[in-house]
Amino acid sequence: MSETPTIHELDDATVRRIAAGEVVERPASVVKELLENSLDADASRVTVAVEGGGVEGVRVRDDGVGMTAADLERAVEEHTTSKISGGDDLEAVGTLGFRGEALHTIGAVSRLTIRSRPRSGGRGHELVVEGGDAGEVQPSGCPPGTVVEVADLFYNTPARRKFLKTEATEFDHVNRVVTQYALANPDVATTLEHDGREVFSTAGSGDLESAILAVYGRDVASAMVDVETEPEDGPVTAVSGLVSHPETTRAGREYLSTFVNGRYVTAGTLREAVLDAYGGQLAPDRYPFAVLFVEVPPDAVDVNVHPRKMEVRFDAEVAVADAVTTAVREALLDEGLVRSSAPRG
Ligand code: ADP
Ligand code: MG
Repeated sequence: MSETPTIHELDDATVRRIAAGEVVERPASVVKELLENSLDADASRVTVAVEGGGVEGVRVRDDGVGMTAADLERAVEEHTTSKISGGDDLEAVGTLGFRGEALHTIGAVSRLTIRSRPRSGGRGHELVVEGGDAGEVQPSGCPPGTVVEVADLFYNTPARRKFLKTEATEFDHVNRVVTQYALANPDVATTLEHDGREVFSTAGSGDLESAILAVYGRDVASAMVDVETEPEDGPVTAVSGLVSHPETTRAGREYLSTFVNGRYVTAGTLREAVLDAYGGQLAPDRYPFAVLFVEVPPDAVDVNVHPRKMEVRFDAEVAVADAVTTAVREALLDEGLVRSSAPRG
């Protein structure tokens, strides 16, 4: 028998590439991370421009706080964040990002260019990272705020690149992500462009209805009902937003958007809770439009479940679902859109 062990340690570059796959799966994941950074940076205007479904390139421009040269250099390093400072903060994350890994991992699997200038004054700078190798921070004449460009995604991870779908499918995913954030942040003027053409643009007026009009069009916008409840007790402090009439539906669930403390989540519990409110009045396999914001105390929810952070875990899952069903049901009943019999389930 050989004395040479068959188990060995992976080199850093390989470890980094594996980790990158957890955060960055496709162009839409890049868009999500960059958009979250812009929102965390207090932007009032964000433009997402993608080429070839995002496979060829992604550019996100914001007018947020920007970064100094020193911060720019740190931003692309591993586990660097300005958003939390230690484990205690994990119990109550108030920003969309906090892991400090997005820029680092995107830089490991693409050609990443960041230009940034602090909004508070000072000069602009630029930094290029290629396949994990960061260049020198250089002066750059750019407006206040930040522009991040990601080109040649997965050029050095061909296995991952092979899993990308057609440009149309990849763009679909990108569109979904930008739509969710545009709806979640009606006060931020959000524009999406594909191959130089504008797909939608919200005004940033703060009005959810006008944001829905911009992304879903007039027919949907005119068939929405206001939800607004602040439960007296229980784990949910507020449920607000808009849901559609029971006959304004689509075949897919993707128009049923739920947000927990401003963060888009794909929690099945919440979607089911919304569907329950319609009390069996939806046609089979049809789903309503919803843009629903659920507020819970930060310590009642765990957002640290998955690197892509689309999932959440509640301490009181059933009570949260009940509060959502009740809130939506009251809104539909008020408008006489559902019968007042007991909800399904
Ligand atoms: P995280 O968002 O989890 O902190 P990231 O890798 O996404 O980690 O970003 C690292 C840091 O870079 C952020 O904490 C922030 O300080 C800075 N940063 C990233 N994007 C922007 C932006 N658009 N505007 C201003 N600062 C940014
Ligand atoms: Mg981030």
